[in-house]
Amino acid sequence: MIGFLGGSGIYEALDLDGVREERVETPFGDPSAPLTIGHLGETEVAFLPRHGRNHEFSPTEVPYRANIHALKQVGVERVISSNAVGSLREELSPQTIVVPDGIFDRTSKRPQSFFEGEESEGIVVHMGFADPYCPHLADHVAAAASDALGNDSDTEAKESAGDAANGTERTDGTRTVAGGTYVCIEGPQFSTRAESEFYRAQGFDLVGMTAIPEAKLAREAELCYVTLAGVTDYDVWHDREVTLEEVLENAAANREAITAALREAISTLPAERECDCEHAISEAINTPTEAIPEETREHLSLLVGEYL
Ligand SMILES: [Zn+2]
Repeated sequence: MIGFLGGSGIYEALDLDGVREERVETPFGDPSAPLTIGHLGETEVAFLPRHGRNHEFSPTEVPYRANIHALKQVGVERVISSNAVGSLREELSPQTIVVPDGIFDRTSKRPQSFFEGEESEGIVVHMGFADPYCPHLADHVAAAASDALGNDSDTEAKESAGDAANGTERTDGTRTVAGGTYVCIEGPQFSTRAESEFYRAQGFDLVGMTAIPEAKLAREAELCYVTLAGVTDYDVWHDREVTLEEVLENAAANREAITAALREAISTLPAERECDCEHAISEAINTPTEAIPEETREHLSLLVGEYL
């Protein structure tokens, strides 16, 4: 099963067949909303709006652990998420869809792990996180997005042919970009100009508020994880004033583009995973099994049960 975590602006599932709603309880509380589960062709898809159906959870308040746990519980193995992001690069203009390959964490108030807190007492897990997104799934999703929407070189070719003036058709202006570093800030405020310039100087590409801890938790849950990041505007470093109307227009265009990319990615996804995500935790548990308290084992049984 494929999981889809919808970001800002995406509160409803794709057009799935045979849809059912499932309320899932987790040891980490309730997820943002009940899961919507249905079929896209042969593939079963579980959808969850990250911020809740009415956008009631701020980036700091999103129940990230419950969301990932709930997806794992219903049988999800691969998660495709979407993020609304600001651009730190002139060339990543609004309505660009980016599949990032790096994350820089600037959050400070969120639980970062399933293996922390009172109920997870007595177990230490050090998970590798050098590549925060599943490289295989990212390659697949980037290629699917490019097929569905066109990519950088297509756009240039179209523009030079004079087709770009053809109005607002999404395919005329769409660009997809593979790779890039997403800096995740705590929010809810946007960056200061000094912060934005700092991120640019580091070579980061996008700024958003939700990649962390979602990507970390997906890895701990041995799920493949990737993001389709839709650029809604330039971050504050840019001197161009953007109106709210433009941001909303860009968000709407991104929603359509992300949905199209997602459908293409899911319908062409190989049945078997070819990466190491499904064994991510096997070498990461530092505490000997016999030293882990019984209550902790119960609390974490879905995540580490097979290794203890
Ligand atoms: Zn993977």
